[in-house]
Amino acid sequence: MDLNHCNTVLRRIQVSAFRLDKVKTREYNIDVKKFTDIDYPELVGDKKPTLLLHVCCAPCAAGCIERILEFFEVTFFYYNPNITDTSEYVRRLTELERFASYFGIKTVDGGKDDFSGAVKGLENEPEGGARCAVCFRMRLEKTAEKAAGYDYFATTLTLSPLKNAALINAVGAECAAKHRTRYVATDFKKKNGVLASVRLSEKYSLYRQNYCGCVYSRRKD
Ligand code: SF4
Repeated sequence: MDLNHCNTVLRRIQVSAFRLDKVKTREYNIDVKKFTDIDYPELVGDKKPTLLLHVCCAPCAAGCIERILEFFEVTFFYYNPNITDTSEYVRRLTELERFASYFGIKTVDGGKDDFSGAVKGLENEPEGGARCAVCFRMRLEKTAEKAAGYDYFATTLTLSPLKNAALINAVGAECAAKHRTRYVATDFKKKNGVLASVRLSEKYSLYRQNYCGCVYSRRKD
């Protein structure tokens, strides 16, 4: 997660959280269950359902982990062909594996595919535009495919205040229908998800990148 962006967004979140808190506390303090399409009874019982969680990086996993371990048996799925630079790709993966080891979580590397071909013609789109929609679909499509054998799949992408959770969830649901798997709709930025990411990143000294991932999102400075 981009730390500079993050700090700005954190300030915004703190302000809006304060306002929401004043106006409608109950709606703001929404439990993660309200962001899922799972019926509550499926989340209780002797055995937790399995979840293949698409993860973009360790700091985003950190922002989600405390909210899902209670409900799911989690496996991390690192599938991010959008990360153009190989050393950056490996660095984020290694950091995720280190973070996962503290929780006894297995990390699966989904490998690289042709991202630049997938977003051809969209290179000049701004972050949050049409290129990102293709990027979300590419990552969720593969996750849905790999989720056969798991009870559910989800993604950490909704943690980012720079990403459209409604779009991500719509794409996730489409991919689930196509691959006959079940998607958990989330909005991990809610309920202080970004603050949790910052807190756990500090605790585990996680590497926090300063750009999203693709070469087009990388700053020139
Ligand atoms: S800015 Fe991020 S989400 Fe958008 S295309 Fe690049 S890597 Fe994907």
